[in-house]
Order: sequence, then structure tokens, then C-alpha cells
Amino acid sequence: MFEFLSNPVVTVAWMGLAAVVGVTLLWVRAPYGRHSASGWGPLMPARIGWVVMELPALLVLPICFVLSSHWHATVSVVFVLIWVAHYLHRAMVYPFLSRVPGRPIPISVVAMGVVFNVFNGGLNGTELFLTGPPHETGWLQDGRFIFGLTIFVLGMVINIKADSVLRNLRWSQHAGYRVPHGFLYRWVSCPNYLGEILEWIGWAVLTWSLAGVSFAVWTIANLLPRALAHHAWYRREFPDYPASRRALIPYVL
Ligand code: NDP
Repeated sequence: MFEFLSNPVVTVAWMGLAAVVGVTLLWVRAPYGRHSASGWGPLMPARIGWVVMELPALLVLPICFVLSSHWHATVSVVFVLIWVAHYLHRAMVYPFLSRVPGRPIPISVVAMGVVFNVFNGGLNGTELFLTGPPHETGWLQDGRFIFGLTIFVLGMVINIKADSVLRNLRWSQHAGYRVPHGFLYRWVSCPNYLGEILEWIGWAVLTWSLAGVSFAVWTIANLLPRALAHHAWYRREFPDYPASRRALIPYVL
């Protein structure tokens, strides 16, 4: 299995699949949240769905580290800590922050999320820890690591803050959707997605890995179409929606 995942051709093919999925998602919206739709099979509670979907990611990359010989390699430990910081939040904190449970999520979507997270975690963990020696400790002072980490942290702060703005719009289960204001919502409809994309671009740079690049490509493939769909939805639902606001990138897109 690890031999398969360590083949760069597999990672490149995985990125090709991301491109296909990204184009498909321009027409078929991932059916959860405001884009929920019938025909995607049985549903499960959203909170449990998020935990089930994201837990594999939290576990798989650290498992690769444990199986490796990198235990005493400082840079590898730092990579694990960065990954775990994101996924501890996403899998164990984020689902429980909302005062009201979200709309039920199709089990089929959760299953696809699990498959993605197992494969993506395995790909990143294999390249970083199971093929070849660890990075030298000096990597922590390399401009690529410092720049990538800066982008990652900036993205995580933006993502968490932007999600909290949305959460505060939903004070009761029947509150529905409102137009978010303040913070980066002044410029874009989906700063939470912008933050998430920045995080994984930062990860690709700070790990300087092909698997990291593939994760950034997948994140864009998932979230760019969804940001465009959210933006179009806001404009349809709220006639007074701020005209200058873009979907994902201020002044651009
Ligand atoms: P959304 O922005 O669609 O929704 C986030 C939460 O806020 C949901 O509970 C949603 O409710 C609520 N909400 C959104 N907009 C409004 C509004 N205008 N008024 C009131 N409530 C609102 O994000 P996702 O659910 O798609 O994603 C959640 C997190 O997961 C994000 O941080 C995202 O970056 C991350 N993610 C990462 C992916 C990746 O590829 N790495 C893929 C998907 C998500 P409701 O559910 O009812 O719409």
C-alpha cells in the first residue's frame, strides 16, 4: 500500500482526478448545507457526519509518522503538529461550536469525505515520513518553510474567524440564512473557504512536497466551485446583496 502511495505517478493522477471533480462541481453542487438536495440517499446528523468524515484525516497522517523511522526528526514532528492543529479543530472542535445542529448530511457525502481523507492523509504521510530520510532540522529556518507556515497560520486564522462570523448569524434552528457582514465578508462571500485554501497552499510550500501540492489542488477543486455557488445563491436570495463583493478572491473572483 505505502509503495503504491509513494509512486509520484499516483499523486499526479490524484491531481488529475481533482481537476475532473472540480469541473464537475461547477454543475453538480455538493449536496449539503444550503445546497442540500434529495436523491443522495439516507441522511445522518451533521455533527456526527463531520466527525466521522474528518477523523480519518486526523489519524492517518500521524499513523504514517508512527510507522516511520522519523520519531526523533524535529521537522517531521513539526509537520505532524501543524497537521494535527488543523484536524483537531476540524474534527473535534468545529462540529460542536454551533449552538444549533446543522442540516442532516447525506451518508454518501460523508463516505466520500472519508475516502478522500484516508487517501489524502495516506499520500501526505507516505511522502513525508515513509519514503526517504526526514528533512534536516535546518529546514525550519528555510525561507520556504517560514513563508509556507506564515500562509498556513494566516489561512487558519481567517478560516476560523470567518466560520465564527457565520455561526453567530444562526442563533436558533429556525433562524435561516442572513447576509454576513464585517471581517473579510466586506470583500468576499466565502472567506472561510479562502482561508482553507490558503492553509493548504501554505502546507504545500512548507512541506515542499508533491502530496502537499495535490492537497492544495483538491481543496481548490472542492471549494472554488462551492464559493461560486454560494455567491450566486446569496445574490439570488438577497436582492440588496453588496454588489462589489466577490465570491472568493477580493476584487478578482
Ligand atoms: P459553509 O460556509 O457553507 O457553512 C458553514 C456553517 O455556517 C454551516 O453551519 C452553515 O449552515 C452556516 N452558514 C453559512 N452561511 C450562513 C449564513 N449566511 N447565515 C447563517 N448561517 C450560515 O461551509 P461548509 O459547511 O461548506 O464548510 C465548513 C468548514 O469546513 C469550512 O471551514 C470549510 O473551509 C471546511 N471545508 C473544507 C473542505 C476542504 O476541501 N478542505 C471541504 C469542505 C469544507 P448550513 O449548514 O445550514 O448551510
